[in-house]
Amino acid sequence: MAWGVAQAMVMDQSTHAACRVCLGGARPFMTVQGRRYWRCRRCRATQLDARQLPDPGTERRHYLTHHNDPADEGYRRFLARLASPLLKVLDRASEGLDFGCGPGPALAAMLEAAGHRVRLHDPFFRPDPAALERCYDFVTLTEVAEHLHRPHAVFRQLAGLIRPGGRLAVMTALGIDDRRFANWRYRRDPTHVVFYRAATFRYLASSLGLDCRRVAPDVVLLRKPGSGRSSPTAPVAAASGARCPASTTETARARA
Ligand SMILES: [Zn+2]
Repeated sequence: MAWGVAQAMVMDQSTHAACRVCLGGARPFMTVQGRRYWRCRRCRATQLDARQLPDPGTERRHYLTHHNDPADEGYRRFLARLASPLLKVLDRASEGLDFGCGPGPALAAMLEAAGHRVRLHDPFFRPDPAALERCYDFVTLTEVAEHLHRPHAVFRQLAGLIRPGGRLAVMTALGIDDRRFANWRYRRDPTHVVFYRAATFRYLASSLGLDCRRVAPDVVLLRKPGSGRSSPTAPVAAASGARCPASTTETARARA
């Protein structure tokens, strides 16, 4: 029998938890096949109970079942939903980070083919902690945000890596009618633990001092105000804890 909402809605006894996206207050939302979900009252994110998050071994085994071949045309079309709008706004020869690139960094290959440089970091498949200590013109997260166990800390960290005028490009499914949540394919992935709405990213962007623009049904571009290629300082950067100056590429050119 398909899981209907009536069967799925068994509320947890607890009534309050901290939202892992915005640290606001979350309330019990739904329990589906023993998995308890919470809904943030402030940013509207839905998230799996913290006590039910998968361990790293479970996550890694599941990720290895994904087929993310850089040569796969269908996968490249999928990634183009983020790559196309991002490429339209990037300056020539920009520097980026593909955060959570997975075992087959197809997006990086696409962006590099367009003349940009892309560094990779993935805690499971391409760990490079030093990549998180540099500054970038853009950072991408494709099908990563829904896996994050500590999204508030991660988004804050990544926002801090972006130069003024830079972008944080995120692709993740943005919500669904609550009546369809229990049967939603995206929810059934055991490693998907947080589900965002457009409102979630608007709140997140505002709290990080970023602008937010939805450019596709499942893609948002968050932009740090300022001009990365001309502004030597970034007064707004303090809002996101950023210490990244304008593009080092341009700085080097100016000195030459
Ligand atoms: Zn929240």
